[in-house]
Amino acid sequence: MLKVYNTLTRKKEEFKTIKPGTATMYSCGPTVYNYAHIGNLRTYIFMDMLRRVLKYDGYKIKGVMNITDVGHLLSDGDDGEDKMEKAAKEQKKSPKEIADYYADVFFRDLERLNIGKPEIIAKATEHIPDMIKYVQDLVDKGYGYETRDGIYFDIEKFDGYGKLSRLNLDEQIAGARVEVNTEKRHPADFALWKKAEKNHIMQWQSPWGMGYPGWHIECSAMSRKYLGTTFDIHTGGVDHIPVHHENEIAQSEAREGVKTVNVWMHGEFMLVDGGKMSKSLKNTYTIDQLTERGYSPLAFRYFCLNAHYRKKLNFTFEGMDAAQTAYDRLTESLYKHKSSAERTNEDTIKKYETQFSEAVNDDLNLPLALGVLWTMVKEKPSKDVYETALRFDKVLGLGLQNVRAPEKADDEPIPEQVSLLAQQRYDARKQKNWAESDRLRDEIKELGYTVTDGKDGYELNKI
Ligand code: AMP
Ligand code: ZN
Repeated sequence: MLKVYNTLTRKKEEFKTIKPGTATMYSCGPTVYNYAHIGNLRTYIFMDMLRRVLKYDGYKIKGVMNITDVGHLLSDGDDGEDKMEKAAKEQKKSPKEIADYYADVFFRDLERLNIGKPEIIAKATEHIPDMIKYVQDLVDKGYGYETRDGIYFDIEKFDGYGKLSRLNLDEQIAGARVEVNTEKRHPADFALWKKAEKNHIMQWQSPWGMGYPGWHIECSAMSRKYLGTTFDIHTGGVDHIPVHHENEIAQSEAREGVKTVNVWMHGEFMLVDGGKMSKSLKNTYTIDQLTERGYSPLAFRYFCLNAHYRKKLNFTFEGMDAAQTAYDRLTESLYKHKSSAERTNEDTIKKYETQFSEAVNDDLNLPLALGVLWTMVKEKPSKDVYETALRFDKVLGLGLQNVRAPEKADDEPIPEQVSLLAQQRYDARKQKNWAESDRLRDEIKELGYTVTDGKDGYELNKI
């Protein structure tokens, strides 16, 4: 039985789907104006873990993820330039070129991190008519009102505004930025639609003239379109709780007249060196930057799995080194199980399977599940351990089918004779005595070893 923590109720709850056997799920996706950093990617690893646990439990998934390619303003609220337009101007490209480029890189990163792509990927710019209709319905129902610069949601009309973040309206006012728009009825009212100035690149015809959607409306309109009035789970990062998701609840429940999301789940932030990630501190690393430093993307995934998704995770290069070492050790330890023909008794395997399943079903306790895997791989070599690890990997997504041979098999030292011949061959090569070098290579081969030359010497491997 799967239990998950619902941000709305602040409780771990037993998970039940609306439609038996199928989980419907919406995940807030990236704003594609820049490279995703490792913090953003942690949130998508969390989404992926949830999807994998649901599948492990036998659910089918209908998952939707949006791609924000319009409407997300610099302030996260209703002021400042559109992030897409700013990047387009800076890079002298069109917003569409910017969106296509960064979305491609994003999906490549997801693939390298073994993050499964949700079934439906929905781009905001391809759903403008759905959003206009949504805004119109809110205006017709009395929740939206027009000002000189757009259509705003009247939060005081919506009973329950603030229930996700548990902030009352006064606290919302305190949190709102310095007011520039005096036509708003309440400082925390937010834009459903913005009227476009002439120089705004992205604009569409609407009942309120040329304009573009607010950031929040895309998620309400697209989740409704693909998942219906009420769906099972909505995910995002914790930063979405107080504004983006609060606004989404207000829009969706105001329009539909019912609760639209059963479980809200949020991934905690990643910090770097104990502090916030920010461009000015130059600590917003990308996966490419990690691979340039010699780390593998799946070791980063391992790093994330080692912390519970509701705990802050502090990224440091020492921590990343430890994750890479542990990940390599894990794949190496599985090698001996893969090459073994021995079996482990059924009860022992069953015990690990139960422990693993209980851990992942307890609000995705992946650190505990990894611990179970580690205990299991310490068993004596056995094919069953390997096969069970592969079943666990359906949740972990660590690519454990690609186990690697240990660099030096500790239990099988290279025979002295082979080492000696390899050294002699090395000396022969230094003297450019190629014939002798080739002869020694053959002799080494006859003893069951290959020798590979590198710039700092040579490497011996068993054939
Ligand atoms: P954005 O592209 O800015 O809309 O963000 C994409 C996702 O990354 C959102 O779900 C954010 O909540 C999440 N996010 C942003 N910064 C971090 C961070 N430092 N750690 C974890 N998730 C983050
Ligand atoms: Zn969203």
